[in-house]
Amino acid sequence: MTHASPFYAGVELGGTKCICVLGTGPEDIREQIFVPTGDDPNLALTQMESAFRTWHAEYGAVSALGIASFGPVDLNKQSPTYGYITSTPKPGWSNTNVAERLLKVYRDLGLTSLPLGFDTDVNGAALAERRWGAARGLDNFAYITVGTGVGVGLVVANRTVGGLSHPEGGHIRIARMAGDTWPGSCPFHGDCVEGLVSGTAIRARTALEGEGLVWESVAHGLAQLVHTLAVTTSPQRVLIGGGVMAAHRNLFPLIRAKLAQSLNGYLQAHELTGGLANYIVPPGLGTQSGPLGTLALARDAFILQSQHK
Ligand code: ZN
Repeated sequence: MTHASPFYAGVELGGTKCICVLGTGPEDIREQIFVPTGDDPNLALTQMESAFRTWHAEYGAVSALGIASFGPVDLNKQSPTYGYITSTPKPGWSNTNVAERLLKVYRDLGLTSLPLGFDTDVNGAALAERRWGAARGLDNFAYITVGTGVGVGLVVANRTVGGLSHPEGGHIRIARMAGDTWPGSCPFHGDCVEGLVSGTAIRARTALEGEGLVWESVAHGLAQLVHTLAVTTSPQRVLIGGGVMAAHRNLFPLIRAKLAQSLNGYLQAHELTGGLANYIVPPGLGTQSGPLGTLALARDAFILQSQHK
């Protein structure tokens, strides 16, 4: 199917809310609604289906669907569970086939081979930042989100990184800050990055100890995460977003200072000069990176399918 002017539908599935969106990009969001994620995927997905049907009646046929989801998700197109949220600890959502469920809406409306872009929420957000935000023109960068958990989207050689599964950079183990022995809150690893710097960790630690070392430890943990990324996939820039960062912008200079200290002059690049102000940056799209990521995923899927016709 060809369209004079393609437009897309997308869903960002988040830990607390899902965002359905219709449009082509930041200047052209035709519709956007929020659906509580809740503990019942059937209830949430039914509301999304209903929005897509309403929009189809009003705007006509979309050219592709983009889905960006909290994980773990199965991104392997050869796998029988491709398009699933798999073993998530989120109550009710384990083994949910979100892709098929949402594609079926459009199949029932006559769109039998709608291109699908399916990726993690952070990879989606990274693609949106590359297209419209703070990573424009870069083919190698990282997008970190610090909220309830910590997610890391990696773009290397202009593609999101995946393999065995998708990267779970939030669960990297790091060198602890001297004198900091708080055990961390990750149920799997204790003091991995997420166990030390996520909103969940910050709340748990503050309740026990007061603010004390909390913010210095958070800045340290994120600087260590960026150190690890800088010496592995070598990002040209690192975007750090999410609710914790949006509410605590003063973390940025702290993280930059701690990263400079940790790298200790080892990496030489002009991006790393000037106090790292252009190396560690907030997302350009703010809270819209997520939903716009679904449109970026849909657009890429549409272009890919057009090229193979
Ligand atoms: Zn962990």
